[in-house]
Amino acid sequence: MRLIFLGPPGAGKGTQAARIVAKHGIPQLSTGDMLRAAVAAGTPIGQKAKAVMDAGGLVSDEIVIGIVADRIEEPDAKKGFILDGFPRTLAQAEALDGMLDGKGLKLDAVLELKVDQTKLVDRIVKRAEEAKAAGQPVRKDDDPEVFKTRLEAYNRDTAVVAPYYAKRGQLTAIDGMQPIDTVTSAIESALSETARG
Ligand code: AMP
Repeated sequence: MRLIFLGPPGAGKGTQAARIVAKHGIPQLSTGDMLRAAVAAGTPIGQKAKAVMDAGGLVSDEIVIGIVADRIEEPDAKKGFILDGFPRTLAQAEALDGMLDGKGLKLDAVLELKVDQTKLVDRIVKRAEEAKAAGQPVRKDDDPEVFKTRLEAYNRDTAVVAPYYAKRGQLTAIDGMQPIDTVTSAIESALSETARG
């Protein structure tokens, strides 16, 4: 199964993707996690990406497309994957089409978590507080001001991606403002419908 999770930062993509991983045994490919790992490891990609990420901007298409192209070649991605945080621009969506076409693969579903953006800053403040309370590191870009920049990047560059898939009849919208378990159930029903075709 090959899935994409779309939705603004803080919509719950990571949380929901982790649940699908547990249930369906396919890896979650989060470009945000991959980039954070590159930053932590101090690789050339990490060094290039760090300042942009800290400021809440988007890392270049070239870098992100490159890391996804490499990652989907890994053995664990052969049986499927969940893309979380990618594609974030039309150029990335088109590049992904090229990668999949080249391998004769298709997407099974594109799920868009719809949320009320006015509630997202509160959510992100909560996420930072919870991470802190659990003794986990707080993401630098979960600062409310940086978060607003991330939301702007989403509305400027990423909001066009959902209509790209909707035009092809591949998009399923999910109400992401419901409780976490309800969202998971809605995703599971959407996936069984897709499987039934
Ligand atoms: P995320 O964990 O998905 O919220 O991503 C954290 C940060 O990583 C974003 O704010 C961007 O700076 C960068 N990033 C992650 N995925 C992408 C992508 N597909 N395109 C460009 N930048 C990305």
